[in-house]
Amino acid sequence: MLHKRELPDSEFEDLNKVYRIKRKLLYWLLRTPPTEPISKKNLEDLFGKKLASWFWRRIRQPSERTQFGQALDTLAAKALSANTEAKQLASAIRHDAQFHKKWHSPGFELKFPGTFTEWIDPLKAVAEPFYDWLASEIGFAKDVFGLTGDNMSRSKIMQLYRSQSRRICGYCDGPLGEIGTKADANDCDHFFPKSKWPHLAIHPANLFATCMGCNETWKLDNAPMGNADEAGIRGTYHPSLLPGSSLISVDAKQSPKHPMRVSIEIRDEEVPTRAKTLVETLDLEARWSNDVNEEMDGKGVSVFVAKAFQLKSRGQSPDEAEIGELLDGSISWARENIGKEERSIRQAAALQYQKDCHLAQIIQELL
Ligand SMILES: [Zn+2]
Repeated sequence: MLHKRELPDSEFEDLNKVYRIKRKLLYWLLRTPPTEPISKKNLEDLFGKKLASWFWRRIRQPSERTQFGQALDTLAAKALSANTEAKQLASAIRHDAQFHKKWHSPGFELKFPGTFTEWIDPLKAVAEPFYDWLASEIGFAKDVFGLTGDNMSRSKIMQLYRSQSRRICGYCDGPLGEIGTKADANDCDHFFPKSKWPHLAIHPANLFATCMGCNETWKLDNAPMGNADEAGIRGTYHPSLLPGSSLISVDAKQSPKHPMRVSIEIRDEEVPTRAKTLVETLDLEARWSNDVNEEMDGKGVSVFVAKAFQLKSRGQSPDEAEIGELLDGSISWARENIGKEERSIRQAAALQYQKDCHLAQIIQELL
C-alpha cells in the first residue's frame, strides 16, 4: 500500500481474461439459472467445447458431482428462488469488477456485499476455487483460456512483482524476504480479502506480493477499506491505484516512555484517515519504531552514523558542521531512495530526529 505495484499490461490482460470467464459463469448462474441439473451442454453453449471440457472435469455428472459442481447447483437453486435479487447481485458484481477504473470517481463504492450478505457463502463456494486453480502448479492453461502469454499462475504473478519490487515489500517498506518454495516469491495478498469479496478473488488489480509479516501476521483478513463504501475507499491507499509513500509524512520523535528511544509517527495531511488505516492495518508505527530503535545503540546514537563518520574522518576530531553535513547527506540519500532501498522512509525520519535533537550528543560520543 506504500509503493506502487502493478502487473505489466500483458499479464494484467491475461489474468483479466480468466477473470471475465469466471464472471461469465457467475452471471449465467445468477441471471439465467438452469432449471435442470447443470449439464455439459449448458457449458458448451456458454463457453465452447474446449473450455466446457475444462469446467466439466471440475463439475462432473450429477451422480458424481464435485464440491465445486455442488456449489454451482446450490447457487443456481438460490438464484431460481430469489430471481430478482440474483439479477441485482449480478449487476453488483459487474459494477465492482470495474473498481480499478472507478477508484478515483467521486462517490465510488463497492456494491457487494452491501445488502447481499446472505449470498456471501454460496457465491464464495463458486468464486473462490478459481483462486485455488490459479495457485496450482499449472494455473490456467494458455490454450484453454486463450491467453496471449504463457499459462497464468500465482507463481508467475509473484515472480513478476518480485522483478519490479527491488526486494522491498510494497506494503511496509521492509525487506520482501527470501523467495519461498510455495509461491516462488513470498505471500500473495488479496487487497480486498477473498473471504468477504470472493468475486474479486482473482481480479488482476486485487493480487499483490507482500512480505510474510504483512500478509500472515498483520493484514490477514483485515480490510483497510472497511466495508468498501465511499468512506472506506476514500480512507485507504491501494497498491496500484493510490500508493501511500508520496502522500504520507513521517516523523521520528522521542518516545514518551523511553528518553533514549524514538517513536515513529505517520500522517497524511490531505486525508488523515488514510494514514490511520495504514498504521492500524499493518501496525506500522510499532514495527517501524522497533526497527529504528534496534539500529540505535544504548546511548541513543545511530550506529551507522558513528561508523560512517569514523570512516570519513579517519581519526580527526569531529565538528558540528561536519556531522550535520554527514547527516544531511544520509537523509537526502534515504529520501531519494524511497521505494528503491528497503526501510528508507523510516531511516530518513530517524536521521532527521538525530540531527535535530541529538547533534551535540552525537559529537560528544564520537570524541
Ligand atoms: Zn511488508
